[in-house]
Amino acid sequence: MSQRTLVLIKPDAVRRGLVGAVLSRYESKGLTIVALEHRQIDAAQADAHYAEHVDQPWYPPLREFAVSGPLVALVLEGDEAISVVRTLNGATDGRAAAPGTVRGDLSLSNRENLVHASDSPESSEREIALWFPNLV
Ligand code: ADP
Ligand code: MG
Repeated sequence: MSQRTLVLIKPDAVRRGLVGAVLSRYESKGLTIVALEHRQIDAAQADAHYAEHVDQPWYPPLREFAVSGPLVALVLEGDEAISVVRTLNGATDGRAAAPGTVRGDLSLSNRENLVHASDSPESSEREIALWFPNLV
């Protein structure tokens, strides 16, 4: 079943010059980019995006990281795109993520882990509406 998923290439990836390398993995997999924007977000957008996490003790430094520099927001489309992109990205903690995944190959952090992807059809719908209201 074709799905759309919201992906963020986070500020650490932009700073490290990894945008192309990450995008290339998604394109090589066969996913289609249906929206893409380089954007600097503010705290309100970070809070809206991470609504489920704002009460976590680790949220304030995550917010600081999210607004620390530009990121690239995109929507990918393809067969089972939501779970496929989660698998390509790897486990949340880059130190534990499997080799072959974006995080497993390129991140050594549980916060600065390069990428975000929607985790369910409900999250995807909410996040695409938040980041790309013109697409829905
Ligand atoms: P994922 O991005 O894999 O869906 P979560 O939704 O659990 O992971 O967390 C959102 C983001 O918050 C993570 O990608 C990571 O940047 C950060 N994060 C999660 N857990 C921690 C933690 N224990 N300490 C610091 N940052 C964290
Ligand atoms: Mg998540």
